[in-house]
Amino acid sequence: MAIERTLSIIKPDATKRNLTGKIVAKFEEAGLRVVASKRIHLTAAQAGAFYAEHSERGFYGELCDFMASEPVVVQVLEGEGAIAKNREVMGATDPAQADDGTIRKDFALSKGENSVHGSDSAESAAREIAFFFSGLELVG
Ligand code: ADP
Repeated sequence: MAIERTLSIIKPDATKRNLTGKIVAKFEEAGLRVVASKRIHLTAAQAGAFYAEHSERGFYGELCDFMASEPVVVQVLEGEGAIAKNREVMGATDPAQADDGTIRKDFALSKGENSVHGSDSAESAAREIAFFFSGLELVG
């Protein structure tokens, strides 16, 4: 399988509860390398632009407010099949449906406040990485 890069966000519910290190450890244990990382506090408008594909969904306003409620840690993860591997380590959107040992099973509070974001395709990964990082910030 090819070496890929994917965009990860450690969401406000997790940064607020000091879970950043524990979550990064799960990525690294799964063989994903952090090749870029920064802690930022999004505005609701920036969160809205990032999640534009969900703008018609009923939870969109709630999602934008949540993502702007506390700082987030945005990261680029690299590794073999990184896009699917990250989704596997994250677990299902709803923590009640997530497999044992996944980040969302261990840490998420609800379907909305679910601790992590991960790109869901190669196209999303390219767009989402470019949304947060310049090429100069990727230091694999
Ligand atoms: P995923 O993050 O697993 O790819 P989606 O792309 O379906 O999931 O949704 C994006 C994000 O929107 C979720 O991670 C979650 O934070 C939020 N979300 C999804 N569904 C709901 C819902 N029913 N109620 C509140 N928030 C939701």
